[in-house]
Amino acid sequence: MIIKGEATVVKHTGSHYMLSRLPQWELFPAVLRGKIRLKGSSATNPVAVGDIVDFEAEVQDESPSSVTLENPAAITAVHKRRNYIIRKSTNLSRQSHIIAANLDRAFLVVTLDFPQVKLPFLDRLLVTCEVYGVPATIVLNKCDLYGPEHEEMLSAFHEIYEGAGYPVLEVSAHTGQGVDVLREMVSGRMLPDGSVNEEFDAGKSVVSLFSGVSGVGKSSLIKALDPALEPRVGEISDAHEQGRHTTTFYEMYSLATGGFIVDTPGLRGFGLVDLEKEEIGLYFPEMLKVSENCRFAPCTHTHEPGCAVKDAVEAGEISYERYSSYLGMLDEEGKYR
Ligand code: GDP
Ligand code: ZN
Repeated sequence: MIIKGEATVVKHTGSHYMLSRLPQWELFPAVLRGKIRLKGSSATNPVAVGDIVDFEAEVQDESPSSVTLENPAAITAVHKRRNYIIRKSTNLSRQSHIIAANLDRAFLVVTLDFPQVKLPFLDRLLVTCEVYGVPATIVLNKCDLYGPEHEEMLSAFHEIYEGAGYPVLEVSAHTGQGVDVLREMVSGRMLPDGSVNEEFDAGKSVVSLFSGVSGVGKSSLIKALDPALEPRVGEISDAHEQGRHTTTFYEMYSLATGGFIVDTPGLRGFGLVDLEKEEIGLYFPEMLKVSENCRFAPCTHTHEPGCAVKDAVEAGEISYERYSSYLGMLDEEGKYR
């Protein structure tokens, strides 16, 4: 018999996709039927992890679990994405690669030290999350390593990011500190601010992006969240490209305690959206809040007289670090197009 249904893409191997009807975790292979092209998209991959698709499959019973690689399901349509994050296919190309779609949350993993967090880089990720409408939580890993010499840096970090409106969660994949809280957030039972999610619905899947530079402990954290998981390390080379390019296939993981994670190994940064100079400030929430009091609109918050953002920086209400990341992005605007 033929069944039709809706499922989420949880993996792309290059030759086929793996689908699951979330929040069920029952994977089955699928291929694209015909040419699925998204209008106006320059993406090299028409279907990405997190995409919700329509499928058809020939099955023995009602369930697609009997679908085999020899007779895979067919993806017949891709649903409109709520959001998605992209990276450029190569440094020079204007084409983009969709890393993941339909994300509910983003966990940006950083470490104060080992390796030292680069605030402008973190701020760029945060801007990207704002542009895509994905609520971001900063996960400060390796807390077991922070001693008295980090105390000042640690409180400054909290002040900068909590002041900007982002939750900062201290964790250690090694000691387990904060991991229970992170697990509750990933499952959706807890909101990023640590409060109970009153609207939690076990029938709905919560998909979270994990991102951060390599070495911060993303894989270790995922394993700490669910020891049954085996996060893949590093990048996979595409044999057809003879090592000239590397193609990374992202993958979704299902946690035993609830929730789904898309890990981004080897990803140095994502997003890098087309923003006009005047737009960048809209994605620094603490600047947006005061910018209605700027004398000019739009205001770039640089040279304009009567700029409420500059006043707030001077008064210490907006952190100088965030403001200087903003200036850096203004300067580099254009580089990422
Ligand atoms: P990834 O590249 O972000 O996936 O990072 P890994 O999970 O591979 O971790 C990089 C290194 O940091 C490894 O040597 C881990 O053992 C170490 N590491 C990860 N988490 C912690 C932690 O919470 N505390 C300490 N001390 N080391 C950690
Ligand atoms: Zn201004």
